[in-house]
Amino acid sequence: MERLQKVIAHAGIASRRNAEQLILDGRVTVNGKTVRELGVKVSGNDKVEVNGVPLEKEVPVYLLLYKPRGVISAAQDDKNRKTVRDFFPEFKERIYPVGRLDYDTSGLILMTNDGEFANLLMHPKYEINKTYVAKVKGIPHKGILRTLEKGVKLEDGTTAPAKAKLLSLDKKKNTSIVELTIHEGRNRQVRRMFEAMGYPVLKLKRETYAFLDLRGLGTGDSRELSPHEVKQLR
Ligand code: URA
Repeated sequence: MERLQKVIAHAGIASRRNAEQLILDGRVTVNGKTVRELGVKVSGNDKVEVNGVPLEKEVPVYLLLYKPRGVISAAQDDKNRKTVRDFFPEFKERIYPVGRLDYDTSGLILMTNDGEFANLLMHPKYEINKTYVAKVKGIPHKGILRTLEKGVKLEDGTTAPAKAKLLSLDKKKNTSIVELTIHEGRNRQVRRMFEAMGYPVLKLKRETYAFLDLRGLGTGDSRELSPHEVKQLR
């Protein structure tokens, strides 16, 4: 469910403010009834008309991007840095990322214009697994990996059970590559988990999101999800 003025604005026929004015002026109907209050919520099944003309429904778009490092996961950036939106100039829809990856993190991120879908995936109760590969300073021993798995005390609470695996190590450089699978999505969570254990992250990449991975994609590449994949995620 979304606010009526937002739905009108997203259909591209008015700014949010002008959409509010259209509602206040009594020019908007929902399922045939004029709505004059702001804040009314509508779903995709409601028939919205402005000046007697039905709103065109946006075609839902579901994309998977291999985000490079040095890109903001937002639809726009006030400092004019490159954003994940810039990878899709051919789409005129208002698409935005599902969740976030840090500016310096690369890897798999989903993009959509389907707000309900995005909210669903981001809801903690769905516990969607995300696998990260981190290059860290130091070589974590088994006990450290076990603590990462059981839960790390962070300032916003102890982390939920996770999976941690040492993939390789470089004794000379004193670095290692660790795979960490978590289902929470707190801000900078992977970096903070390693940092809390004394193994700062030097490089971070998200390899998987649920059953999706980056196979066949190079950095900066993207593809549309198949209808079957979208269905599986719901
Ligand atoms: N955890 C992090 O620390 N950074 C990300 O970008 C994603 C998860």
